[in-house]
Amino acid sequence: MHEMPVLALSHCILNRSTRWWQKGKPIEKNRGVTIQILNMAARLGIGIIQLPCPEFTFCGNPRPPRTKDEYLKLPGFREHCKKLAEEAAEELMHLVKNAREPRIKILAVVGVERSPTCGVKCTPIRKGSLKRYIEEEGVFISMLNESLKKRGMHIPFIGVDLDKPEELVEAIDRLL
Ligand code: SF4
Repeated sequence: MHEMPVLALSHCILNRSTRWWQKGKPIEKNRGVTIQILNMAARLGIGIIQLPCPEFTFCGNPRPPRTKDEYLKLPGFREHCKKLAEEAAEELMHLVKNAREPRIKILAVVGVERSPTCGVKCTPIRKGSLKRYIEEEGVFISMLNESLKKRGMHIPFIGVDLDKPEELVEAIDRLL
């Protein structure tokens, strides 16, 4: 039976304008799409779902830099992420369920490493005045993982370093 591969990408991979921005940050870092990933999807015939950007929809830009623990303390942010995670999991579930023939396979959810919200294996926390990175999921990715599992969906999560998108291309090649 045919199976069509689809990736669920963190919002800013396709629309960098929602990434954290403050005065002084070069605007070029927040412009456009991550073309290497789009090229890969086009080359391999992979569909793309764009996940919501929890930080931008809650705080907009400019926004202060925050670590995961700081976002968890921000009133309302946890609930905001939970709602988005449930909606996204529901959308992915319907996509798979309704695709009886040909079938759709969600190859992976792709988060953004070093993000307090969308990190998969690397997220920042604050210890006193110091920021450091730990091996943990960000706020939204962790909730999305839970929401998917609750629906019986066990999908691999991969984190991309937006400074090295070619690493994701290699990881996806390995999944196919
Ligand atoms: S990493 Fe997540 S929260 Fe941060 S800008 Fe990208 S989509 Fe938004």
